Amino acid sequence: MNYDYHIHSEFSYDSRIIGADLLIKALELNFNEIAITEHLDLLPQELSVYGLPSLQKYYNYCVRLQKEHPGITLRMGIEIGDYHKVKDFAKTLVSGFSFSPILGSVHFLNDHTNVAIPLSTPLTPDQVKDYYMQNLQLAQSCDIDILAHLGVYKRYYTHVPDESAVQGIIDEILHTIIRRDIALEINLSSLRKPYKQIIPEVVLIDRYRDLGGRYISIGSDSHRIDHFDRIPDFVLDICKGFDPPRLS
Ligand SMILES: [Zn+2]
Ligand SMILES: [Zn+2]
Repeated sequence: MNYDYHIHSEFSYDSRIIGADLLIKALELNFNEIAITEHLDLLPQELSVYGLPSLQKYYNYCVRLQKEHPGITLRMGIEIGDYHKVKDFAKTLVSGFSFSPILGSVHFLNDHTNVAIPLSTPLTPDQVKDYYMQNLQLAQSCDIDILAHLGVYKRYYTHVPDESAVQGIIDEILHTIIRRDIALEINLSSLRKPYKQIIPEVVLIDRYRDLGGRYISIGSDSHRIDHFDRIPDFVLDICKGFDPPRLS
């Protein structure tokens, strides 16, 4: 199946994709399904800058888009940033809507470093440990369908860092998502950035398979219409033998 389950539209504060353009392009590219997964970022430093998005408006926007473009299945998803830190608030907000898929992602370290934007210096070993510990907490405690962009802090690196010191935590994350039937996302955004490879890397996806992982999700994490394109053949090859995420 040809799908992309991580796309931001104009409804996200940092995306410029017009929904109608996205659906027309998805039809041209022969996608069966796509998901718009708007940001729901609820940490105080985010709320104070961007405010609270109206989920009702977002819902209406998706319903209208689907009606106008019936040739493709549009999923109404959501990417909840740092869900484990805002769990009750987020749960209450999304409870009235049947978002699917729900992506969980870590964007901020405990020291407030935003790991999703270009970093002035590489993370310290303690920060890398904190990053993965937070992914572990997210995977353990939140109701998500997909663990998004694991390893996102490396997107602006030009080298592959040695993560052997945190391999035990990464294994624990993989065990947790396997036990909870959470899909691991192959995030394509780092192909567009200096890192130039998928995250998590192929070696980690192999590890996930070896540990018994079954569900893989593919997400372009597009924020501009030119980011959204065919899924590269090598990614489709990596996905062979895995199932897509189990979604309602
Ligand atoms: Zn993200
Ligand atoms: Zn995203």
